[in-house]
Amino acid sequence: MDAIVKPKRTSGALPPPEIRKVGVIGAGQMGNGIAHVCALAGYQVGLNDLKQEAVEAALASIKRNMVRQVSRGLITEAEMTRALGQISYSPSLESLVDCDIVIEAATEDEAVKRRIFSDLKGKSKPGAILASNTSSISITRLAATTVQPERFIGIHFMNPVPVMQLVELIRGIATEDDTFSTARKFVESLGKQTAVSEDFPAFIVNRILLPMINEAIYTLYEGVGSVEAIDKAMRLGANHPMGPLELADFIGLDTCLSVMQVLYEGLADSKYRPCPLLVKYVEAGWLGRKTQRGFYDYRGEKPVPTR
Ligand code: NAD
Repeated sequence: MDAIVKPKRTSGALPPPEIRKVGVIGAGQMGNGIAHVCALAGYQVGLNDLKQEAVEAALASIKRNMVRQVSRGLITEAEMTRALGQISYSPSLESLVDCDIVIEAATEDEAVKRRIFSDLKGKSKPGAILASNTSSISITRLAATTVQPERFIGIHFMNPVPVMQLVELIRGIATEDDTFSTARKFVESLGKQTAVSEDFPAFIVNRILLPMINEAIYTLYEGVGSVEAIDKAMRLGANHPMGPLELADFIGLDTCLSVMQVLYEGLADSKYRPCPLLVKYVEAGWLGRKTQRGFYDYRGEKPVPTR
């Protein structure tokens, strides 16, 4: 007997269209990375954010990152010019109506994401796939806010998107096979590898990674080591390319806290309790690199520990 019964046949919903245009909602560090790799793979991209400045900053950072790829010989100048021409600003959700897949990469807050998907009702192409890049939130719950939960899937890119090879794919309870296979083909066309995770809090990568980062913050909070000692210990002692506090700043401390809260509430186990020091940094608005201050201060030439 199958342990988990999954829908095999379509519900009669229109099949997913061939993917030509990708909508990206949220032009932060993940949204800009997703737009970057989609444009380079030849897709048209519509980039949306609450704030036009966020899209302008995203376009500038995509260009900077592509210039770096050209200088390293990873892409040609012509590929860069072509890719940059594929990305346009989508000022509203209505302007995503011609997209064959829409990937939501807004702030890691369930209320924000639920509002986006419920606002998208009637504004997307029939049969279009809706996806969330959430790090932790239930795909089944987000899918339930849409008109066609069978066309909904979790597509979880890693940061920085142009560099990291893995993308996690997460089916909600209603996700149909053709949605899954179209999403997998699309992700592979971006040159990425996929790992399939069941729909449980924080999926695979963050279920393992975030409790480690949270423990590093407890280690700092309890005075076991300084910021520098903790990061050095894990870089040189466990061969991690980045120390856990550096990595937390890179991910964004608001996102780290949100993931820990989803784990704590979703699994009802005290081992996932977010460290009070993490809460304090987020309350201060010290969210890591994106606000120039977190466990390190990035405003000078070199990062300086803040404790
Ligand atoms: P970010 O803070 O850099 O960007 C979030 C963007 O979403 C901001 O520009 C904000 O203006 C925009 N936004 C908020 N509400 C919106 C709305 N209603 N409509 C349109 N745009 C809206 O965050 P991020 O690090 O890019 O994370 C985005 C998503 O990707 C989150 O779900 C996060 O969990 C996930 N993710 C993050 C990482 C990481 O390492 N940071 C890795 C994988 C996945």
